[in-house]
Amino acid sequence: MRLLIVEDESSIAQRIETTCISDGISCDIAEDGTEALEMIKLYDYDAVILDLMLPDINGFEVLSRLRAIKNGTPVIILSGLNSTDDKVKCLTIGADDYLTKPFSKVELLARIYAVIRRTSGHFSSVINIGPLEIDIKRCVKIYDVEMPLTKKEYSILELLALKKGTVLPKEAFLNHIYGGLDEPEVKIVDVFICKLRKKIADMTGGLNFIETVWGRGYMLRDFEDAAEHAPVNTLMVS
Ligand code: CA
Repeated sequence: MRLLIVEDESSIAQRIETTCISDGISCDIAEDGTEALEMIKLYDYDAVILDLMLPDINGFEVLSRLRAIKNGTPVIILSGLNSTDDKVKCLTIGADDYLTKPFSKVELLARIYAVIRRTSGHFSSVINIGPLEIDIKRCVKIYDVEMPLTKKEYSILELLALKKGTVLPKEAFLNHIYGGLDEPEVKIVDVFICKLRKKIADMTGGLNFIETVWGRGYMLRDFEDAAEHAPVNTLMVS
């Protein structure tokens, strides 16, 4: 999961960043509105934490411009402005949530997860696909047994689960993991997918949930489809 923090006060930006990183969420920071808009157009963030009082264009304007170009990235306003008018204005022009400063770390995290869950069409923080249970708080279980995953493997599985049934190009995975910074070659995605498939197969008696769509990318299958594609001798086990 990757967030953009738009905040001109560096101490606050760092506090938000530390909170997110402690929960395994990667972050980028933009110090003004112009930089924020450029970064959001370049990278595919899971959510944006947006301050309203910024040195150049204010947060209201950033949000309006974003929605005007049909960019639907979830936006959580985090502002010192606490009037009902400001809250209503933001929610009306397309904010997904509004939190006031000073903020509590646990509340911020809870709101981030809630917003991402809602905007990705999931109603709980856990996505279930047959025996596979992916908690967007970074825990994956198969048949109730925790699956050992590296941070990058988790990120790939998380993206596949959030966009289940959609073919994702390899660049989308790179963007999700590295956010456009120091990206390795796209072939690295095949390596991660291969490792993930092996771990899932080892724990499910040979099931493969991750489909290769030639020339296009990868897609997470539903459980029934995965079972259908399983080798015959393993179907009796599962
Ligand atoms: Ca500010």
